[in-house]
Amino acid sequence: MPQVCKTDCCCGEKEQFKKAEYDNKCPVCNLSGIKVRNITVKHLVKDDIAELVGDMDYYICMNEECDVVYYNLQSGLKFIKEQVKVPIWFKKDAEPKYACYCSKVTEQQVIDAVINNGARTVKDIIEITGAMRNSDCIKNNPLGTCCHKIIQEAIEKGLSMK
Ligand SMILES: [Zn+2]
Repeated sequence: MPQVCKTDCCCGEKEQFKKAEYDNKCPVCNLSGIKVRNITVKHLVKDDIAELVGDMDYYICMNEECDVVYYNLQSGLKFIKEQVKVPIWFKKDAEPKYACYCSKVTEQQVIDAVINNGARTVKDIIEITGAMRNSDCIKNNPLGTCCHKIIQEAIEKGLSMK
């Protein structure tokens, strides 16, 4: 049975967006990254190089201009955009730009739902687009966190365009 989101959050837990940590800077752009669990990295790095991931947790570079996605400073390993299966929504030229990775709903679909269907809340978006069904954010979202926050940001973008 596909699990349909009943609350605001598709993970069933109130998860705060993680904060950047200052002692874990991207080896290329030197900006702070956010911790991402091993299971997420393993699932999203392309299959032919997935065995390189190992058992470590990684950081993700949040700089939209930087090609680095995941990195681990202890091992020196890093994975760039081309080595990851999905476009990273906050990186430059991400195409398509997913708001919900689990249900493959794009930011544009969310914006359209706001502009054309009068959606105002995450709940409206779920009803109109089918976002957040079959939620498995830990494996599908590049941050391994719930896509609720990205959808909320896309709604606000849509509202500001109206
Ligand atoms: Zn970087």
